[in-house]
Amino acid sequence: MENAVRYLTKYDQEVGALVSAETQRQRRTLSLIPSENYSSKAVQLALATSYTNKYAEGYPYLWSNGSREEQQSGRYYRGQEHTNELELLAIRRALQLFTPNPGDYHANVQPLSGAPANLAVLSAFLKPGDTFLGLALDYGGHLTHGHNVNITGHYYNAVQYRLNESYELDYEEIRRLAKQHSPKLIICGATAYPLQISFRQLGAIARETGALLVADIAHICGLCVTGYHEHPFPHADIVTTTTHKILRGPRAGLIVCKKPYGAAIDRAVFPGLQGGPHMNTIAAMAVALKEAMSPDYKLYAGQVVRNAKLLSEMLKAEGFKLMGGRTDNHLLLLDVVGSANGLSAKNGNWLAKRWETAGIVANKNAIPGDTKPWYPSGVRLGTPAITTIGMKDQDMANVAEWIIRATRHAENEAELQRVRDEIEQFMGRFPSEPFYV
Ligand SMILES: *Cc1c(COP(=O)(O)O)cnc(C)c1O
Repeated sequence: MENAVRYLTKYDQEVGALVSAETQRQRRTLSLIPSENYSSKAVQLALATSYTNKYAEGYPYLWSNGSREEQQSGRYYRGQEHTNELELLAIRRALQLFTPNPGDYHANVQPLSGAPANLAVLSAFLKPGDTFLGLALDYGGHLTHGHNVNITGHYYNAVQYRLNESYELDYEEIRRLAKQHSPKLIICGATAYPLQISFRQLGAIARETGALLVADIAHICGLCVTGYHEHPFPHADIVTTTTHKILRGPRAGLIVCKKPYGAAIDRAVFPGLQGGPHMNTIAAMAVALKEAMSPDYKLYAGQVVRNAKLLSEMLKAEGFKLMGGRTDNHLLLLDVVGSANGLSAKNGNWLAKRWETAGIVANKNAIPGDTKPWYPSGVRLGTPAITTIGMKDQDMANVAEWIIRATRHAENEAELQRVRDEIEQFMGRFPSEPFYV
């Protein structure tokens, strides 16, 4: 891959230089954004292949009487003998990884990312104006769960549920809203929720009220498939996920559902929402799905959770205010305005910028009560990326110390530079294996 970058740089000096610079940035700073990761060399190689040249609108099978006929290609263009085999392989792997019984489920590997996957699911089962329930953005929900700046918030009647005062899902409140509004669909899952989600309880609410349950497990899919989080199946009817977060694959989306919903989902993705699938991305997704079935990935997922718990305990002990009071998964949500012991900041935007000067890369995040989206009170941290490069229990003390120093001395440029130098030196101790291109 080094050769590939050298070739690129000779061919196009400007883009080549920007690729090298970004790789160096990723190699030298502490990547704590919980939705980011380092993909493997194999995943990156699969992305950079001839499959990027191929149009493959349609599916590698035809639907007839509600079942998939794999004997017949459902593509619109010719030249599909290999794309068909590749997509079927990716689907088989997705079903094997994500379902308790692959024969009862269907997978669509074509969504271009997580947001289009969610929109496809909503458009498959809802008409404009229909009601669905989703978690509010300032309580950890995703934009695509019905926020009013997103298409899901203005095409549909999105009723937003909130967390309780302890920043926990309030199942009785969700039940009450579902009974009151009779939604066609309930979407659960989050982008900034540090606790476990009970898919079993949400499934019960959906069945009681006649709604479909969609579990968007973009952040936690790797924990669900390794036993570190409750699995959404069989409680959910449909699962959506991204493949580039904890799963360490290419930037893409994936939908897995109970078989009866398969035909509607396929139609919604194509021709409903998208054109040709990105076959090179599907190749890389197949590689990532295989990697996620390995014993190494299970060890990885366990270490992600251990690292996050250790980091959260250390930060809490020093005075950081943790939303939810603890971490059960891979992420921490800090209320940095409400933190104590000299760790309180002006706002999350300001602090995340100061941390960046120190080589700590995180993201600002809204917390309940925030009114200015650009200046929220929270910062979100996660351990998927630092665990991929090899950080273990003992390394979390260092990470916590840098975070604490960069917060206490956020206005001291010399101290931030010292932290940055220490981080760069520390990062140099880990193998460069994940930093390919
Ligand atoms: C990241 C995320 C998405 C959207 O994924 P994109 O690939 O950025 O479109 C959707 N839902 C949840 C819960 C997410 O965390």
